[in-house]
Amino acid sequence: MKLSCFPILILFLLYGNLVGQPLPGGPSEAKPCLPDHIRASLLQEVSNNSDSLARIGKIRNGKARMAPLFIWPVEQSPGYNYHGYYAISNYVDQDPAEDATLDYNCGSRTYDGHKGTDIRISPFPWNKMANGEVRIIAAASGTIVNKWDGNFDQNCEWAGGLSWNGIAIEHSDGSKALYGHMKNGTVTSKDIGDDVSAGEYLGLVGSSGYSTGPHLHFEVYDDEGDLVDPFAGTCNSLNNSSWWQSQLPYYDSGINRLITGSAQWENFDCPDQSDINSKLIFCPGDQIVFSAHYRHDLTDNTIHVRVYEPDGDPSPILNTSYSREGDYHYTTATALWTRDLPEDAEAGMWTFEAEYETTTYGTLNYITNFWVGLPCQPNYNFVGTHGSGCTYYLASNQITSSANVPVGTEIWYDASSRVILQPGFSSPPGSVLHVKSEGCN
Ligand SMILES: [Zn+2]
Repeated sequence: MKLSCFPILILFLLYGNLVGQPLPGGPSEAKPCLPDHIRASLLQEVSNNSDSLARIGKIRNGKARMAPLFIWPVEQSPGYNYHGYYAISNYVDQDPAEDATLDYNCGSRTYDGHKGTDIRISPFPWNKMANGEVRIIAAASGTIVNKWDGNFDQNCEWAGGLSWNGIAIEHSDGSKALYGHMKNGTVTSKDIGDDVSAGEYLGLVGSSGYSTGPHLHFEVYDDEGDLVDPFAGTCNSLNNSSWWQSQLPYYDSGINRLITGSAQWENFDCPDQSDINSKLIFCPGDQIVFSAHYRHDLTDNTIHVRVYEPDGDPSPILNTSYSREGDYHYTTATALWTRDLPEDAEAGMWTFEAEYETTTYGTLNYITNFWVGLPCQPNYNFVGTHGSGCTYYLASNQITSSANVPVGTEIWYDASSRVILQPGFSSPPGSVLHVKSEGCN
């Protein structure tokens, strides 16, 4: 099975407790991240710059003997804190034969002639790219020996002649790393010849160059200019040891996101962003779509999903397990469950929990919260109108209102100490007002 530089999202879905239903879309035809003629020209530029920098004494002074040990070359941008955000879509192809593939672990998670590690961002890659949610960082310290920017970054298919945005770093031992497909205009403002330290920002993930979706292509050469596969394994014939400080397992299974939504997400034609339809605040009786977005889901992995009420009691609306039949590894996959909140759903913070039993890591635990009513805050002071529909105000101190409750609206006030209805307050016929004094949970 060949995967493209950026394999099409493979999904399986669960409606209620029913059988998983694969969505259309599967492995697509192999496409190069960097065609050989373009690679040759990029590497020539890198080599020329490197030599120039050496001549002026900028690099290769007291050359280090040891190759660097890499940290993971992507991380979430500040403000983003999802459980996970990437999946490895392709490793280096270790088999020199044409039309034959072999990855470092003797599997086939690569495509013919692939010379790097592809790290895609997931789920909803185009949304993540648009928001700049994942940034590329230097896997090791070194000196910038080339950079490319200003190129179109929303490629969806292989197209000849397109150049990527990216950067090349030379490490102190003379080895080099290429980071490619960056988002246009995001490559570090540092110049060729400037030093970067490990973990330093280099750019944002994009889909520039030969790419069918947002991902990082990370390609490494040793001090002799020979290709390196940073992953050590039985079938790595390029180098003996791992170049990672901490090498990830071959199947780095996990859940990247748990989402509560008003409806199932909608995907559109590449490169349009998805409508995620995520929602955190619900009313009693509302439909909730619970979804779990995996990376590297294996057949033997099992998910248990549960929902807990604000008082910690398990909710009967979701308490189920799922493991797939068949024999597959999905780079990314999704399961969803559609449920209705009870009409008498308890107001406050609810918990959506997933226990994911993986063959790689054992049991991993994930939780995310959602609210029936509004999340608690210290105080509310209403002088304008309230929102319409179902609204629940929960405060850790007091709620003061002189505002009307719109007709046809149901509103709860719930504060730990006082709820004050000042002169001017009205709750006309057709509106419903509940007042409690309990505070936040
Ligand atoms: Zn690649």
